[in-house]
Amino acid sequence: MARDPRFDVLFEPVEIGPVTAPNRFYQVPHCTGMGYRRPQTVAALRGMKAEGGWGTVCTEYTSIHPTSDDEPFPTGSLWDDQDIEWHSLMVEQVHAHGALAGVELWHGGAASANLYTRETPLGPSSMPAGYSVDPVQTKAMDKADIKDLKRWHVEAALRAQRAGFDIVYVYAAHWYLLRQFLDPSNQRSDEYGGSVENRARLLRELIVETKEAVGDTCAVAVRFSASSGGDDDDQDTEEPREMLEMLSDLPDLWDIVVNDYSYEMGTSRFVEEAGLEAAMSWVKSVTDKPVVSVGRFTSPETMLRMVRQGVVDLIGAARPSIADPFLPQKIRDGRDDEIRECIGCNICYTGDQTGTPIRCTQNPTMGEEWRKGWHPENIPAKGSDSKVLIVGGGPAGLEAATSLGKRGYDVTLAEARRELGGRVTLESALPGLAEWARVRDWRLNQIGKRPNVEFYRESVVDEDQILEFGADRVLIATGAKWRRDGLGRWHETPIPGWDTPSVITPDDIMDGVMPTGPVVVFDDDHYYMGGVIAEQLRKAGLDVTLATPENEVSTYTSITEEQFRIQQRILTLGIDLVTGTGVARIDGGTVMLESIHTGEIREIEAATVVMTTSREPQDSLYHALADRIAIQRIGDCLAPGTIATAVYSGHRAAREMDAEVPVGVPFRRE
Ligand code: ADP
Ligand code: SF4
Repeated sequence: MARDPRFDVLFEPVEIGPVTAPNRFYQVPHCTGMGYRRPQTVAALRGMKAEGGWGTVCTEYTSIHPTSDDEPFPTGSLWDDQDIEWHSLMVEQVHAHGALAGVELWHGGAASANLYTRETPLGPSSMPAGYSVDPVQTKAMDKADIKDLKRWHVEAALRAQRAGFDIVYVYAAHWYLLRQFLDPSNQRSDEYGGSVENRARLLRELIVETKEAVGDTCAVAVRFSASSGGDDDDQDTEEPREMLEMLSDLPDLWDIVVNDYSYEMGTSRFVEEAGLEAAMSWVKSVTDKPVVSVGRFTSPETMLRMVRQGVVDLIGAARPSIADPFLPQKIRDGRDDEIRECIGCNICYTGDQTGTPIRCTQNPTMGEEWRKGWHPENIPAKGSDSKVLIVGGGPAGLEAATSLGKRGYDVTLAEARRELGGRVTLESALPGLAEWARVRDWRLNQIGKRPNVEFYRESVVDEDQILEFGADRVLIATGAKWRRDGLGRWHETPIPGWDTPSVITPDDIMDGVMPTGPVVVFDDDHYYMGGVIAEQLRKAGLDVTLATPENEVSTYTSITEEQFRIQQRILTLGIDLVTGTGVARIDGGTVMLESIHTGEIREIEAATVVMTTSREPQDSLYHALADRIAIQRIGDCLAPGTIATAVYSGHRAAREMDAEVPVGVPFRRE
């Protein structure tokens, strides 16, 4: 299908200093959890974006000098000539598809505790250093240090140029070194602190010197915060505007972000598409240079509006390019309905935060391009004429049906409920999680185009029916249920008193049960579910206590960049948050909460307890038939986990059917 000519504007080339981006689709720098540790893996990932039509593809943050390491988070590095080779690997793969390659040069300053290099952290003043609460401080940079920094930056830029990069960044955002200099807290008494002009001096000098060094062939981009506020509604743009006006046409490109990272890359639970627009729409009015910014753009209409209204020149994307490396190509070819839209869950960010390769809920091939040779759009044709029965239409079952259908297998999927989608359908009805339904919708759309995939809804399948159906292969994707007995991370045995009608689970609530209050939500799961259930019940007017053995709500979400916001919401809603607490006993309308530290018991009234602790695989069909037919479990039925894990499991089963899979380690290593 030809594309709507209105979208032609998105495919116009954009001049960026000495180079030209072939279109407006710009993959901004984003971390991958790979960095210098996995050069082949990261090069293949970036190359895939270029193949999918992203006109510019950038690296992750790339350290210019050993005084800036971010371990345990894997960064790139351009510390010496040894680092050039692995960057060239990426550049070649990006150039092979006609895209520009950009490198984000980075110095963390006080954000780097230098746990790996053991170099003394640097900062504009002596201040606490490190990402977390490392008990170390920076050395206040003197003039010699500033001179060194400028030299390191230029040397790294020259190495980037030798690696073949087209765009070199000066990174002045996200509380790294240059941002620390720009900040009002920089009250140095020399010409690098105090007044706005002084605080912007180092940035100015770095732009000028980087341009002098590599500006003949490379564009120089500046990543800059358009707001200095910490909150969404505190979009204080006055001082950033003054600085940007001062530096206006110095760089070749402005890459605009906001100060609050948890807003800039906020989950869909808290931030909508184009969330940065209000804070940064002024930028183009004060510079003639091209502007790029992000906003979890997945709608071509929104992209078009952003360009037409002069908010940006280039559509910046990290997550939309992760969820769908072929997004630009799909718009180009008039296949917008095939865009695998990011759901805004930030599972991709957990890779960086755990020092492991990036994963994506929507795109199970993300991070597997090199080591497994997986392609997000292509999958080998079927290896036999086997007929496949899939039982269960959650994310695992739907992904398996989609990918097997694409391979050409005859697939039948039976789902007990009227609605397909399993947990994503149920969970997307909870507060803030509506976009998660995209996991279901994209797959249903794909399957809808394939006559070789059939559905049976409202079909509770039992073992006799499976045998009678006579499929050659059976995939059991029947999911998992939340446990009522309280087994979880803290309680290794059932909680006394659990087996009463007043104890329910999130499954009951998602099935429409409205409990009576007061309610205790006991969260020993620590991801989003406990917090989201508490939020829903509180909004329904019930008195809610959220008790957890952890020291905060939804601990895992600190690595999806949303823990602070969840805790803020829980407290603002008036939910009583009780931390460091287990449940000693449930007893006719009361719950005995027990401090995990002192054992002290506190009795509270609770007409209902919502047990959010762990889940039990629904695998009885599998066990009944395991020795009799070719049958396999996938998704939560195999092992309860994230939606991303379920999708990956369904995808892997589809890829590996009739395929040769390496024995032992099932992927290439580097
Ligand atoms: P996953 O995350 O692994 O995909 P879900 O819990 O989201 O798991 O989905 C499992 C799906 O399987 C649910 O929609 C559920 O209704 C369905 N299901 C469970 N048991 C049966 C069964 N016996 N027959 C058909 N469908 C079933
Ligand atoms: Fe989007 Fe989630 Fe994929 Fe990240 S993991 S790109 S947030 S769908």
